Formats: sequence, C-alpha cells, structure tokens
Amino acid sequence: MSRQALGEAEENLARRFEEIERRDREINSFIELNPHAQEEARRAEKLGGRLAGMTVAVKSNINVRGLRATCASKTLENYVAPYDAVVVERLRREGAVILGMTNMDEFACGSSGESSYFGPTENPSAKGRIPGGSSSGSAAAVAAGFADAALGSDTGGSIRNPASHCGVVGVKPTYGLVPRHGLIDLAMSLDQIGPIARDVRTAALLLEVIAGSSREASMLDVEPQPYSQRLSADLSGIKVGFAKEYEEVTSPEILGVVKRALRRLEAQGAELVEVELPNLEKALPTYYLIVFVEFFSATRRYDGRRYGYRIEEVCGEEVLRRIMLGSYISQKEYAGRYYRRALQFRSLIRRELLQALEEVDVLAGPTTPKLPHRLGERLTPLEMYAYDLLTVPANLAGIPAGVVPAGRVNGIPVGLQVQAKPLQEQVMLNVMLAAEGRA
Ligand code: GLN
Repeated sequence: MSRQALGEAEENLARRFEEIERRDREINSFIELNPHAQEEARRAEKLGGRLAGMTVAVKSNINVRGLRATCASKTLENYVAPYDAVVVERLRREGAVILGMTNMDEFACGSSGESSYFGPTENPSAKGRIPGGSSSGSAAAVAAGFADAALGSDTGGSIRNPASHCGVVGVKPTYGLVPRHGLIDLAMSLDQIGPIARDVRTAALLLEVIAGSSREASMLDVEPQPYSQRLSADLSGIKVGFAKEYEEVTSPEILGVVKRALRRLEAQGAELVEVELPNLEKALPTYYLIVFVEFFSATRRYDGRRYGYRIEEVCGEEVLRRIMLGSYISQKEYAGRYYRRALQFRSLIRRELLQALEEVDVLAGPTTPKLPHRLGERLTPLEMYAYDLLTVPANLAGIPAGVVPAGRVNGIPVGLQVQAKPLQEQVMLNVMLAAEGRA
C-alpha cells in the first residue's frame, strides 16, 4: 500500500514503527510491539476521539489485552494479559493506538532501567548513560520519538526520574486519581499510573483521559478535569516554594540548572518562597521499609502454581533482596519495630509536606540528587536508592508531582520537579507549562 493511501493515524504509526525498527535495537525501549496496531490505527481513525491516532507505549506492568505484561521479569515471561487495564480502556476509547510494551526495571524495582530480564535500556538523550527507571523504556521511547506518549507507573519516582534523565515531561498524579486496576503492584499504597510525553500539553491531555473515579475501593471520588483546556502559563499571584534542604542533598550542577529555572519562573511573575522540610532525609528509609513489606506481600502470588515460575527461583538480585528483606521485616513485625515505625514516619512526612504547601501553591526543586550514571557502572544498592531521595516524599504523602525539562549539564538533561497539594494537578501543570520551552 502506498503512503498516500494511508490515513493520518496509520501514517503516524508506520513512521513510528520505522523509527523503532531502525533505532530500538540499540536503545532497547520496547519488549514487545503490538501486532494489531495497524488495525487499531485504522479503527481509531474512524472512531476519532481526543487522542485520535496518538501512539502510546505502555509500561510492561500494565495489562494490555493480548500482549505480555512481563514486568521485565522471567517470572512473568509468558504471561499474556487477558484484559485491558482501566487506563488502557480509557485511552482506546479516545482513539489512542497502543504501540507495545516497554522495558523497565524488573517489577519496577530500580532507578536505572538496568535490572530488566530483557537487558538494559539506553538513554536516547545522553548516549552511554542510563535512562533512569523504573519506567525506563516508556521515557526512552518518548525521548527517541518512537511514541507520541507513554504510560509509566510511579511508586517512588519511576515516572519522574526517567523523565528528568531523558529530557521529557512526566506526571505522577495524586494517589487515587487514576485507577490502578490492571497495574501489577510494586507497593499498592504508593503506586500510581501516569503519563510521559514530550510536552506538558500532551501529558495534561493524557492525564485527563485516564483520571477519574472507577469502581475501585482505593479511588478518590472525583470527576476528571479538562486540564489541557485550562492550561495557563500566567504565574501572577502564584507562590513557588523551594526547600533549603534540597540544597544539602543535590549536586551543584543540578542545583545550578534548577535555580536558573526558578529565576525564570520569578521573571514570569511567580513569587519565590523559602520553605522548610526538616525531615526530608527520613523519607528514603521510610519509603524502602514500606516497599519491602508491601512488595514481599504482593509477590506471594508468584509461587509457581499460576504463573509458571516461582519468583525466588528466577528473579534478579534486586527483586530477591527486597523479597528477603520484606519477609524478614514482616516476621519481626510483632514487635512493631520497623513497619509500624515507618508508618509513623510516613504520617510525619505527609504532614510536613502539606504544611509547607499551605504557605505556597507548589514546591519546585530538583528531581534527582545526581546525574544519570554510565551504563554498566556498578552501584551499591544504597547508591541506587539514593536517586529516589527527592521523589519518594510525594508518594508517601500521596500528592501530585510532575517533571519538566529545565536545562542540561554537559548535554545531559535535568528536569525540574513541581509538587502540589492533593488534586491540585491544574496549578502544577500550569507551573510546568510556564517552565517549559525556556530551558
Ligand atoms: N526507584 C524506586 C524503587 O526502586 C522507585 C520505583 C518506582 O517508582 N516504581 O523502589
């Protein structure tokens, strides 16, 4: 069939597939492509909708009917999703075309995209470096121009961290705003699905399509908002908070980029306010304790009876470490020494963040404390966990947080992280819009 004969959606899809074929062998952002994409594009064309013909890549821990939701693990290598996750249903209803399933850290446990059973992903925006994780393939596919947008999941930063490293936009919504049905849990009290895109407008559009109540018990009962139509870069009267504790934990070159971005926001009419987050550094141990326990519990279903493999027999080092630590902590829990204390700290951190947000409309600061390392460089587990220091507080508190490109250091992208009060996605997206394109 000649190109002329193809409709716009099909043409867009054909171009994306060509690019993937040409360049993804090196980047390794996809685990599997959707063999029915062309048919679906044709159908989307007829159907129309807010996302008509938009190509969307989906992280491999989200169920897309007929494709494998492997979580990038041998454990689920043969698991074919029997249904569409609610978010995928909603995308399709608006005419989106699912491109395929993206690479990720195994079971979303990681910050670099290196722990996949299907091999590491490379950062298309900083060759030879990690793309970040765990939504590594989703961010890389968008940055490489393979997809118009992607879905990721964020338990402690997995959308924002790779968005920052790859120079794209990523949003972790308020906990309970987006249905989790069809997402394979890492830690269910923290996980949220969210969009990754090349610009704020597309991310806002995707978010408005996937957000809003479903029949799930853990969902907030809210109506979806037309974020993309209400976007405004007018910052007059907007207060932007910056915590001085950010400076103590972030590398100077990242801080330089972030400070310049803040000054640009100020020049556009925002008022900068210094706030305090004295317990910022407690967020990391608190987060990991909770994740170990919840992840251990979530993995008990992979006992070899339903999914082919017993997880402990086939998983990688990091997943095994978490299962063992989670099991240990759960056994010791009768004394309330770890998990119960972690929950107390979680409340403290939430309170502290909400208090800081009472004084301002948003907090703006760095996304990760350091630049992405080179592929193949060995990090200790603690060095790896340290990437998450600035992203986990939003998950512990359940507040929305988004990342927008802010500049580069030696060619490596650096994202500005914007956090807002629960359900204040609109003001967060507005500030992100104002920061966008001025990097
Ligand atoms: N890097 C964090 C972890 O390993 C976050 C992962 C995530 O958000 N899925 O737990």
